Amino acid sequence: MSGTDHAADRTEPEEPSGGEPACLLALVCAECGAIAEQAPPTTCRRCGALVERD
Ligand SMILES: [Zn+2]
Repeated sequence: MSGTDHAADRTEPEEPSGGEPACLLALVCAECGAIAEQAPPTTCRRCGALVERD
């Protein structure tokens, strides 16, 4: 199938550059400001506080 390349190129979405900082903000510990290594809800690896999704 020689048309597969065109189909893949068309369906590939480009992510907006402003999306990543918002994701990082959700990972910031409210207690010490560390970045959690997992998606919230999780616990801060530095101080042990609960990092919740706001
Ligand atoms: Zn913390």
